[in-house]
Amino acid sequence: MKLTTRTAEIIIIGGGVMGASLAYHLSKRGCTDVTVLEKGKAIGEGSTGKATGGFRTQFSTEVNIKLSILSRDKLKTFQEEVGIDSGYSPNGYLFIIHNQETFNKIKSIRTLQNNCGLNDVFDLSINEVQKLQPFINLQGAFGGVYCPSDGFINPINILQGYTNKAKELGVKFIYKCDCEKFEVLNNRIVTVSTSSGVFFAETFVNAAGAWASIIAEKAGIKLNVTPLKRQVAVLQEIDLLPSKLPMTIFLEDGFHFRVRNRQLLLLNPTLPETIDPFDTKVEPNWLKKTHEISKKRIPILKHTSIDIENSWAGLYEMSPDEHAIIGKSELENFYFMNGSSGHGIMHAPALGQLLAEEILDGKAHSLDISALRPSRFKEGKLNLNLHLL
Ligand SMILES: Cc1cc2nc3c(=O)[nH]c(=O)nc-3n(C[C@H](O)[C@H](O)[C@H](O)COP(=O)(O)OP(=O)(O)OC[C@H]3O[C@@H](n4cnc5c(N)ncnc54)[C@H](O)[C@@H]3O)c2cc1C
Repeated sequence: MKLTTRTAEIIIIGGGVMGASLAYHLSKRGCTDVTVLEKGKAIGEGSTGKATGGFRTQFSTEVNIKLSILSRDKLKTFQEEVGIDSGYSPNGYLFIIHNQETFNKIKSIRTLQNNCGLNDVFDLSINEVQKLQPFINLQGAFGGVYCPSDGFINPINILQGYTNKAKELGVKFIYKCDCEKFEVLNNRIVTVSTSSGVFFAETFVNAAGAWASIIAEKAGIKLNVTPLKRQVAVLQEIDLLPSKLPMTIFLEDGFHFRVRNRQLLLLNPTLPETIDPFDTKVEPNWLKKTHEISKKRIPILKHTSIDIENSWAGLYEMSPDEHAIIGKSELENFYFMNGSSGHGIMHAPALGQLLAEEILDGKAHSLDISALRPSRFKEGKLNLNLHLL
């Protein structure tokens, strides 16, 4: 390919759901001289294409609850605004709780959730849980917590929708474009050198998902975002469980499952065996263990088998307090849109709008996202996360 020198007002590095959402929201505001540089051959090759599509408002901090509520509003009108169905489907999120201490912790955030405008989170007795989710073994369970307006979304549709609409408004997306080096002068990035040439811009945005710290380092900045492998086991059998069931999560160890496209997906968050932090191979031991756990917890799975070929793994982009890192970095014209810690699809609609406001107006005004500022780690002001939610 011929290497060229090009310019844009804003360069976004990473064409996943974050980069695409920001590109769309900038262009919707009239800022159309935007170029997205993506190292993949096509859309969805990063974590966005690996997500299972859960959506929840049930979080334990004000900023995350409010991000979810703003995103939910946007996902409901996504089709009219962007032209594709976001897949928002309020099947509910059901947390199964096994001990009183966990239950008390969850209950302690109810007032915060209510104050943020989240008023449909309910405690459930064992009988009520069993009615909602008749397929699980509730032996030893204490109860449940349920929010009926949580549920599912379609990650690829959201990415495709934002990408298409941004393109329609004039944004350029360049694929197979690996960002290799920045030229930094007087505390500003001047250019980014890539496998497709050199780009000058006024403003640069890091939306590189699990690879974000590598991009920041190329500009001489430390960004604490680390990849974390997450695996998904797919069952061979179809139509084992009805598609109307809620996302069902065993809160104490995080094991969860959902039905997607008539197949059952099992997730069991454990530490990966591999030492390569960017490895995305599915581990046979993990598949075996996860299947065993699922058979105990969902007895109807006793005679099922795992579809090894179609099971997959991807990377979460973890920040130290499991909250997104959004806003200006130490460099004057370099912004971060990183670290959503596994909630990136559900929060991308809100974060794209909010970071566009910060870039264009100097401050996000639809919501106070100062709790997500990159400088919080140096200031020692991390978000206090109830790690259960
Ligand atoms: C198994 C799994 C299940 C998940 N389930 C959910 C869920 O239910 N709900 C939810 O909200 N979230 C979920 N997530 C998390 C979600 O996928 C991420 O939070 C989200 O995709 C992050 O979006 P992103 O745009 O930051 O990252 P990505 O989609 O990874 O995009 C970043 C892009 O940057 C590009 N890039 C990297 N380096 C360079 C470079 N040098 N030059 C150019 N481009 C570069 C990459 O190719 C990539 O496409 C899940 C994740 C996994 C792995």
